[in-house]
Amino acid sequence: MPKAQVILKKGRERPLLRNHPWIYSGAIAEIVGEPQCGDIVEVFSSKKDLLGIGAYSQISQIKIRLLNFSNKLPHKNINFSTLLEKRIEKTISSRQHITSTNAYRLCHAESDQLPGVIIDLYNKNAVIQILSCGAEAWKEEISQILISNPIIESVSECFDSEMRNLEGLPIRERIHLGPKITSKIEIEENDIRFLIDINGQKTGFYLDQRENRFKLREYVNKMDVLDCFCYSGGFSLNAAFGGAKSITSVDSANEALEIFRENIQINNFLQETFEIIQADVFSQLRTFRDQDRKFDVIILDPPKLAPTRKHVDKAARAYKDINLLAFKLLRPGGILFTFSCSGGLDRSLFQKIVADAALDAGVDAQIIGTMSQSSDHPILLSFPEGEYLKGFICRIQD
Ligand code: SAH
Repeated sequence: MPKAQVILKKGRERPLLRNHPWIYSGAIAEIVGEPQCGDIVEVFSSKKDLLGIGAYSQISQIKIRLLNFSNKLPHKNINFSTLLEKRIEKTISSRQHITSTNAYRLCHAESDQLPGVIIDLYNKNAVIQILSCGAEAWKEEISQILISNPIIESVSECFDSEMRNLEGLPIRERIHLGPKITSKIEIEENDIRFLIDINGQKTGFYLDQRENRFKLREYVNKMDVLDCFCYSGGFSLNAAFGGAKSITSVDSANEALEIFRENIQINNFLQETFEIIQADVFSQLRTFRDQDRKFDVIILDPPKLAPTRKHVDKAARAYKDINLLAFKLLRPGGILFTFSCSGGLDRSLFQKIVADAALDAGVDAQIIGTMSQSSDHPILLSFPEGEYLKGFICRIQD
């Protein structure tokens, strides 16, 4: 079944021996055959030992994403459909303990041993997002496997055009199986109802923040809360549930704020508790500073400011800017929930940036909690890149 053989340069097999699933072009010495986008190839060390099989891409920086390592299965007779089926079955069953919500990530790509495959479940509706050439080649088969599972009623595909361009994937008709989805899907997360537009950002919702949104409830009773980058109100509605006195929420995307308003209604929260502002957070925080407004709890959950390492310097300045302003807007004893979902910036650098921001704001602050992505976004030990969401709960000292 493999269409070609790839031989690595001497010494470049080390990550594979530790089950790391990516091979960059610089590690490749020779390609025997002419693999096309998504073809399965065999990977050999410089000494011609078979290391594994993976899916090939001509365009991506990541040339091969490993599916199997040589210590796992005999490659020669590998039945690809059975492998896909088994992996999907495993990833679905590994989520069955989740009872706090009917919306969660069913498959987290590399971390669930299905490189480039994201599957989110919204109340029996699966939304699949393809992020690599290999996955593009398997998506119909994956969709068929999903629709035959009793917990799934429909399968829809959503596109991240930017990622598809990086991988050289064409923008073409999306897959859809099962009843057509004509309106927003309603889900329930920790007793709060949310409407999901699967054509919105991500696959429609930021499922990775579920556990952190829940955590927020501990800190907000009778507090004035500011939720920056609020999207459809994930943190804001949890603040309301936790008894916040007032909730001010800021986002630049009007469509997301429209859904937020609907979410307030369907949960019967008091409209007066909320102030929703459509604005650029960077300038809105300055406006609050100039107005001398103060808050007890602030959430900063910006979009990915550093998708890769080359964006780090610029992103670091932006993270510092908003964290510094947030520290200044907090009352003594105030709490900051601050996040970075940038793959290009690691946790220790993010902590340094937040520390610099506190120093320049002239406040003493403690870390009283660390946060990561929810458990349905696992991090494979052999693939630490899978950890992208980093967060700290900081408390300003009186
Ligand atoms: N906290 C949210 C997810 C936030 S995602 C939740 O739990 O659901 C990041 C959000 O930032 C998106 O909604 C996006 O529209 C918004 N955004 C991006 N750049 C922005 C900017 N400069 N100012 C305000 N909002 C911005």
